[in-house]
Amino acid sequence: MTIASALTIESPVLVLNQNYQPLNICSVRRAIVLMGGGKAELIVNGRGEIRSSHKAFPMPSVVRLHYMVKKPMVERRLSRQALFYRDNFTCQYCGIPTKKLTIDHIIPRSRNGKHIWENVVSACMTCNHQKAERTPKEAQMHLLKTPAAPKPNPYYIFYHRKIEEEWSPFIPWKN
Ligand SMILES: [Zn+2]
Repeated sequence: MTIASALTIESPVLVLNQNYQPLNICSVRRAIVLMGGGKAELIVNGRGEIRSSHKAFPMPSVVRLHYMVKKPMVERRLSRQALFYRDNFTCQYCGIPTKKLTIDHIIPRSRNGKHIWENVVSACMTCNHQKAERTPKEAQMHLLKTPAAPKPNPYYIFYHRKIEEEWSPFIPWKN
């Protein structure tokens, strides 16, 4: 359990969409404004009260919107780590799983190959060295699969966040 005194007006609150799907994370301050404006309801308190000079508010941990928000499908930004995750930490040429990966540009950058999801794969040191500044065809190397951008994940916002205990029932992989 979190100690109540450690909670502030800036503590994180899980915001659920109208259909109870996790939507985003906001501050207690923002959640109180949403509830006060009739835009959201309290789902889980569990944190006691927060007092202003003449009023007491429940300290929300989870709130739910009274309306449906359509999430924009944000495309995943290309980074080393995101690429290795996409390729399951496996060299896309020889199929060996390893943590010692490099980024291979299928059409080499020296030949105007773009730095986009469709033109990059994870490659082990050996394969990257062997392929060098050539296309897979020239190097007679074969890709395990055609690279593509990973599918947008609506729960991406939670990947690097601490999941509060009271949020767990609403987070699919925490159930
Ligand atoms: Zn390899």
